Amino acid sequence: MKSHRISLLFTFLVSFSLSCPAYELVRVRLLTGQQSVNILCAETTSLYDPSTAQDIAVTPSFAEYSITPSDQGLRLIQTSIDGGGFSFNLPYEVVIEPRGNGTVSVNGREYRGSIFIKLKNGGVQLLDVINIISIDDYVRGTVKVEISPDWPEEMIKAHVVAARTYVFYQMQNRAELDFDVESGIMSQVYWGVNGEDSASNRLVSETAGEYLVYRDAVAQVFYHSCCGGYTEDSMDVWGISIPYITNVRCPFCRNSPRYSWEKKFSTGQIQEALKKNGIDIGKILGIYLLKKSRTERVQELSIKGAGGEKKMSGDSFRRIMGYSVIPSTMFTVEQKVRDELIFRGRGYGHGVGLCQWGAKEMAVNGYDYKEILKFYFPGTKVKKLTND
Ligand SMILES: [Zn+2]
Repeated sequence: MKSHRISLLFTFLVSFSLSCPAYELVRVRLLTGQQSVNILCAETTSLYDPSTAQDIAVTPSFAEYSITPSDQGLRLIQTSIDGGGFSFNLPYEVVIEPRGNGTVSVNGREYRGSIFIKLKNGGVQLLDVINIISIDDYVRGTVKVEISPDWPEEMIKAHVVAARTYVFYQMQNRAELDFDVESGIMSQVYWGVNGEDSASNRLVSETAGEYLVYRDAVAQVFYHSCCGGYTEDSMDVWGISIPYITNVRCPFCRNSPRYSWEKKFSTGQIQEALKKNGIDIGKILGIYLLKKSRTERVQELSIKGAGGEKKMSGDSFRRIMGYSVIPSTMFTVEQKVRDELIFRGRGYGHGVGLCQWGAKEMAVNGYDYKEILKFYFPGTKVKKLTND
């Protein structure tokens, strides 16, 4: 591990060919812009300076401390009850690395691998916290959050291979940044050890080294909760053609609880949501759908108010109202009475790539994980990558 110290942080080399990433270590940004971070290590832990790879301090088991920015870099303040409350200066960047296979608790949440703490870019006195972890430990920490560990094994395996493929693609394309993925909804949601499950951990090991590939490259994968009958073409969402991210007719999610939905809003509620986002067009008179994709997802709509009109994309409207309030852009709007709008829609999420509820139903119907992935990403296949 020590021999990798400098290289993993500063020359994070990954191969673009069909081989494993050079180090198989993912950089997950757990927190950004923090004034202080609380650390608890259950076992002996090294703190080292990533610019020299030299140990600065070794903390005993159950050491508890906080790290804050200081004028000279970072400062460690011991907070263990019996620790005497000593403190000392650290450089601008520090890595906390358990000596065994232990975990590090960051603000009360437990993580495998090591924890990289640095001053946020831009010279502000705030901290960024990055978890450096193996690809498979990262994937383990996404299962319980993204899907239920009680779902059929083949569906969990499909998720695992998709999650592994997703992060590998990010590692290839974000090597110049100081992290590969976020831990929240901007990437895949990752909870560290709290996101793991013993049964699904076994499935991660069983599929070790397996990625979804298209021709000679690791694929770019996306997934969502429920497609509502058709997945969306990448061209219709981002204006980019990805040959294996296209419209797939999905008959499998029809019985899922997220297949169809209906939501009613008063015009006042919509006016309020727009106002919170800096859009003031007065009393809402109506909403009109201007443009839809081939799968009936709203691409552009117009909101008419007493004080003007506002056009926006279906996705912007979802963001303003709340992604769980308007579950997808596959909706229609009806205004039976003047002050109420009824939204009727299908699906949950952006609709791109793998439909999780559909994949679950496919697994129940006897499809294996390779068939599930191939169905949602036509033209791809699951391949075991090695460093040979
Ligand atoms: Zn579906």
